Amino acid sequence: MAKPTPYTRFQKNLKTVFAHLKLTKAERSLFLEPHRILKKDIRLKRDSGKEEKFPAFRVQYNNARGPYKGGIRFHPQADEDEVKALAALMAVKTAVVDIPFGGAKGGVQVDPKKLSKRELQTLSRAYIRAFQEHIGPDIDCPAPDVNTTPTIMGWMRDEYEKLTGSYAPAVITGKPLAYGGSRGRDTATARGGFFILEELMDFDALDRSELRVAIQGFGNAGATMARFLHEAGYTVVAVSDSQGGIYSEEGVDPVRIEKYKRKTGSVAGEYCEGSVCDTSKMKLDNVQHVSNEELLELPCDILIPAALDNVITAKNAPKIKARYILELANGPTTPEADAIFEKRAIRVIPDVLANAGGVTVSYFEWSQGRSGEQWTDAQVDAELKRIILAAYRAVRREVHREKISYRQAAFLLGVRRMLEAMRMRGWIDT
Ligand code: GLU
Repeated sequence: MAKPTPYTRFQKNLKTVFAHLKLTKAERSLFLEPHRILKKDIRLKRDSGKEEKFPAFRVQYNNARGPYKGGIRFHPQADEDEVKALAALMAVKTAVVDIPFGGAKGGVQVDPKKLSKRELQTLSRAYIRAFQEHIGPDIDCPAPDVNTTPTIMGWMRDEYEKLTGSYAPAVITGKPLAYGGSRGRDTATARGGFFILEELMDFDALDRSELRVAIQGFGNAGATMARFLHEAGYTVVAVSDSQGGIYSEEGVDPVRIEKYKRKTGSVAGEYCEGSVCDTSKMKLDNVQHVSNEELLELPCDILIPAALDNVITAKNAPKIKARYILELANGPTTPEADAIFEKRAIRVIPDVLANAGGVTVSYFEWSQGRSGEQWTDAQVDAELKRIILAAYRAVRREVHREKISYRQAAFLLGVRRMLEAMRMRGWIDT
């Protein structure tokens, strides 16, 4: 049997839903492959004068419910198959939260931490030039993802407007506040996950002060989530970033760690080189260093993968001690691991629901860009809460009605909504 890939794992999740919904062959075929796979090599002149090539991708999976939507990641492991899987997940995600978008994703195979600020800007602008004819506020609207920042989104918007001679703030979301961004977009992914977790903990009548949380990933989503949980009285026992992590049974203070990381980290280009595991100088009591793999298996109640995909597999799933897993990363759990969690009654709140706060506030940003309105923090927060909790409750209803996992229920809801739109558009004979 061929080795599983991110995209075959996505298809496996789809198949269980196809069976549940009793889809015809023709209906299934609409979900099997993305509408369009765009790829180009970006040539970048390095500061040294040498020219280097970086493979770049934009995959447009489906636009039945609205313009293609999804982030762009800059990562050495970003390849066509991964971007394809992430694009497909975006289509399910926008349908689960019921916002008027389809799904897409972009990627450049590069280690952006090795680029100077000038090189990073040149690469970001080149990405837009490479795919400009397929992008637009009504066509395909990118956003940030792993290693891409508001500044990068700002450069990209500017490049698009220059190329098209238009005013188009809605072409891209996750922009800086001073250049068409929305309030609350920076904290949105964590905020959405936090609202869901709070509702789940209330439902299960659990006392926050007794709940220990381990978070893998200290980027935008992970670090913000650590702060929200700490402030709400949970004990954050472990955090990590790409260089490793720290664990303390009594809890770590994410606010101090973030400050420390910023203060001591030398800034290379657009990125901070400080690390959460660089605590020797930080004088934290009872802190143990752990690897990213070890972090997943630590004693805790809630595990939050907030970094990369496919980190929870059949190999480590039996050793995971958490009772709840909240996926702020995209695709962190393989279907084999899911099956183990089902047997062990560990509740997994899937990516397409748990991290959908990011794209939801992107929707607010897109709509502010089109109308010229500016929302307040309170408006963004209230609307995000309404949308994400409505989605969570709809998924939970399917869980109980159909006796299936949260992932299967979310896929069921998403695929059903996509099908309705496809029918309206005549893609399916009724
Ligand atoms: N990259 C984020 C995600 O995976 C946000 C996408 C967006 O805002 O369009 O959901």
